[in-house]
Amino acid sequence: MRYLVISDIHANLEAYDTVMDAARPLGWDRVVLLGDLVGYGADPNLVIERVRALAPHALIRGNHDKVGAGIESADSFNTVARSAIKWTHDTLTPENRAWLASLPAGPRVIDDVFEVCHGTPYDEDAYVFDDLDALRSLHAAKRPLCLFGHTHVQVAYSLTRNQFAVETTTPARPFELALAEGSRYLVNPGSVGQPRDGDPRAGFAIVDAQANTVTIFRVPYPVAEAQARIIAEGLPEILAERLGVGR
Ligand code: ZN
Repeated sequence: MRYLVISDIHANLEAYDTVMDAARPLGWDRVVLLGDLVGYGADPNLVIERVRALAPHALIRGNHDKVGAGIESADSFNTVARSAIKWTHDTLTPENRAWLASLPAGPRVIDDVFEVCHGTPYDEDAYVFDDLDALRSLHAAKRPLCLFGHTHVQVAYSLTRNQFAVETTTPARPFELALAEGSRYLVNPGSVGQPRDGDPRAGFAIVDAQANTVTIFRVPYPVAEAQARIIAEGLPEILAERLGVGR
């Protein structure tokens, strides 16, 4: 079984379509989404419709999905994120808004090997920013492999006996991580629609449950088109600018 794992699309249709095109020849059986389908980007309805058509094996909500759906307030958002999510809420069709509101919270166990969450296995809205957050998540996960999103930073951590390591110190992509028996892993596939690690390319991952590997990929997409859509919809210009630098 090969799982395509994608996270943090953030209504970026150009990035989403590019990732799906890039993933097709790699081969996958099931798709798993880690949340934040909407927020920041210009095409929330089209992204939701594409994702619904995929019939994902698993799909959990992100913080932007909750606020965009109107089931949580935007109090924790900064000014730019708040204005974008208000626009998103008002732009979503009632049907898509209701669908978004129905998404389950993480974490969710996928099989014997891995589970997924939006932020961390212990709190769907918490961030894995540093080694301590990563260690806490590695211990909290119910499966040896946990995939998470939310930070928009593509990274892989491991814990073997008491030895903690960051596996993704090389910037080379694709990067394949072989899962060793007895070790624990915490992997962020990166953000499809708003990378924040200084690399503007869209990120995704493939988990191969037979080969016991996780591979993370980056793929360039038409950033200028996504930027033009943001400007055309009257969203804050900074949201277009940041896509160009991956921050
Ligand atoms: Zn996000």
